[in-house]
Amino acid sequence: MPTEQDTLESEAPSTIPGPTLTSEPEPSPSPTASTETASDETAPDATPSLEHEPEETETQEAETQEAEPQRASDPSWDPDSIHVLANRQNPLDPIDYAPSDLVYPEVPFYGPESAMQVRQEAAAALEQLLAAGDAQGMHLGLVSAYRSFDYQQQIYSQRHAEVGTEATDLYMSRPGYSEHQTGLAADVISIANPDCMLGECFAATPEGQWVAENAHKHGFVIRYPQGKEHITGYPYEPWHLRYVGVETAQEVYQGGHTLEKYWDQPPAPDYDEPEPNPELLN
Ligand SMILES: [Zn+2]
Repeated sequence: MPTEQDTLESEAPSTIPGPTLTSEPEPSPSPTASTETASDETAPDATPSLEHEPEETETQEAETQEAEPQRASDPSWDPDSIHVLANRQNPLDPIDYAPSDLVYPEVPFYGPESAMQVRQEAAAALEQLLAAGDAQGMHLGLVSAYRSFDYQQQIYSQRHAEVGTEATDLYMSRPGYSEHQTGLAADVISIANPDCMLGECFAATPEGQWVAENAHKHGFVIRYPQGKEHITGYPYEPWHLRYVGVETAQEVYQGGHTLEKYWDQPPAPDYDEPEPNPELLN
């Protein structure tokens, strides 16, 4: 069943043959409540002891280095970084940011061409990912990638006018808060299973299973994993891939993390403001 964070509006022009896009998805049932709450936010107890003699500097340095958590990347608030953190607590800065190196990846498109661009580095990785899948009999296509601030403003405002803030925020990002605005996100489809486009059943398709096991090898993570809504702010989206580079993606995959947890950032289930800033609406 499609969810609205990723649903494209049916009036968007489609120049490429593909499955019909749904216009009014029904809200998904509430995801199963997660039993892992506190453990996810528990910080590692890595405070180095300061009780050693001062002259033991070499030993102390070695111990300190060992105690510090090592990870392939840190979060960034530079929107041009492939490690930029975008969620309900971290809007892009500037809020109408647009990448300067958007390109069309050479992959099958199943949506409006206007939403098919990604940043150059992510495009090359996406091409490799889908080619690797193709070599193993997986038929994947691209449904939606870069969405501009203006476009997100348009679809958010339209939905907001129809159903109000709470129902709109449930699945759809406010303008300036969407990962799709970074140019590093890609929604993919199992071409043989168009009914599972932007739906949780994508995870059960051969392509969905393959993506879950292989996306990290090409620098992508499943950004909104199952049971992590209390951290990411979004229900399970097995089709939504976020490019972060191979090293980071492998560590996130191996740890079973969200990006928030991996980067030691607070959970972002909600916006600070209950109502969207009127400037975000049009
Ligand atoms: Zn998406």
